[in-house]
Amino acid sequence: MTAKIFKIGGFWGLRALAVGYCLLAGAEAAELLEVRFGPGGETTRIVFDLDGATEYTISGDETGAGRLLVDFAALAVSAGDRNFKPGKGHILRFGFAAAQPSGARAVLEFRRSAKIDKVFMLEPGGGVAKHRLVIDLQSADKSEFLASLPQRYPDLAAVIEKATAEPALPNLVAPPSPTQKEVKALSADRRIVVIDAGHGGADPGAQGQSGTFEKTVTLAAALSLAETLKKSGRYEVVLIRDDDSTIKVETRDTHARKANADLFISLHANAIDEQAVRGASVYTLSEKGSARSATLAKAEGEFHAYGLDLEEWDHDVADILLDKAQDKTITASSNFAKGLIDKLSRKTPMLNRSHREADLRVLLAPDVPAVLLEMAFISNAKDEANLNSPAWRKRTMEAVAEAIDAYFDDPGLQRQAANRAGGAQ
Ligand SMILES: [Zn+2]
Repeated sequence: MTAKIFKIGGFWGLRALAVGYCLLAGAEAAELLEVRFGPGGETTRIVFDLDGATEYTISGDETGAGRLLVDFAALAVSAGDRNFKPGKGHILRFGFAAAQPSGARAVLEFRRSAKIDKVFMLEPGGGVAKHRLVIDLQSADKSEFLASLPQRYPDLAAVIEKATAEPALPNLVAPPSPTQKEVKALSADRRIVVIDAGHGGADPGAQGQSGTFEKTVTLAAALSLAETLKKSGRYEVVLIRDDDSTIKVETRDTHARKANADLFISLHANAIDEQAVRGASVYTLSEKGSARSATLAKAEGEFHAYGLDLEEWDHDVADILLDKAQDKTITASSNFAKGLIDKLSRKTPMLNRSHREADLRVLLAPDVPAVLLEMAFISNAKDEANLNSPAWRKRTMEAVAEAIDAYFDDPGLQRQAANRAGGAQ
C-alpha cells in the first residue's frame, strides 16, 4: 500500500463571491480548489486546497462510523461540487453544504472510525501557491474520535458541545433555511438512483411500426420515474440524460459510478421482427458480463469498488475485492430485478422468462447494482401505443418506484446493496 497523495475531485468551476462576512474586510471568500486524500493504512490525510485563507472550525458526530464536519467561515464551493463524492482511506464519502452568509460546511463520513491526529493550515510557501488545510486521521474507536475533538481544539469547545448536546442529526447539520435543501441532499439517508434513458441524440434506438423512436419513449419514461422518485423525498435522482442528447454507452455506467449510485436503472424498449411478441423484461449482468466487467475495469484503470481505489492494493487483493464487489452487485441486482418483475407484472404485460441475464456494457459497473428494463416491445403495435401513453408510462414507472422502495426497505437487500458501506472492511 502506498501513501502517495491522490488527486480527486473535479472542477471547481462556478465561483460564488462572498457577500457579507469575510475574513478580511472587502475580500472575496476563498475558493475551494480541490480535496485530496492520502490513505496509508491506519492513517488518512485529508487536504483541502484553498486559494485563500479562511477561518475554520471542526466538529463531529457519532453517525455510523463517525462523521466529521469542517465549517469554513468564507469559502466558495460550486453547486455542482457539493454532492457527495467517494472518499479514500477512512473517509467513505464527502460533500459540501453552503452555510450562511458566505461559508461552506464540509461533511465527511467515515468508512471506519478514526480520531483526529493533527490539524494544521499551511500558508503558501515552498513553491506552493495554495493555502492547505490538512487533517490527519488515525484509526481509533468512536469514543476516541469524539475525545479527539475537544482535547486538541479547546477553542472549538462551544461547537463540540453543541454537536454532542444535540444527538438529532438534523439539528447538527442544519444550517440556516436557505441551504436546508442542500443539507438534505447530503443526508446519508437518501439513496442515489441513477436513471439511464436508453439511446438519445444521434442514436434513436429501435423504431415502432408507427414511427415511434425508442429514444423518445425512454426519455419520457425516465422523466416520469424521476418525478415519482423525487416526490417521495427518499432519493437523489440522477438522470444520465434529460434531453435528446447523444451519450456514449461506454460512459453510462461510469456516470453511475461517479454519481456514487446506490442503484442504476437503464430504460429501453425492445424490438423484434416477430411483431406479435410483447411485454416487459428485466436484464441483469451475466457471469460472462461479470468477467468482462473485471477486464474492462482493469483496462480502464477503474478499480473503484466499495469506494476503494483498488490501485492502492496489490493485484491479488484487488482481484479478490473486485470479485467480492461483483458477487454482491450481481446478487443485489438480481434481488432488485425479481422485485421489479413482481411489481411490473401487476401493471403491464410481461415477456415469458422476464428476468434475463446479458452481457450488456451498460450494466458493467462492478460496484453499482444495475438492471436494464425493456419496458415493452416497440415493435408490437399495442406495446408501442402503451409506450406513447403518458398514463401507461406513469403507471409503469410508479411500479418501478414501488420496486425501488421495496428494495431499499428490505434490510437484507440493503445489506447486499450497501457496496460502499464497508463489505470489504
Ligand atoms: Zn435500447
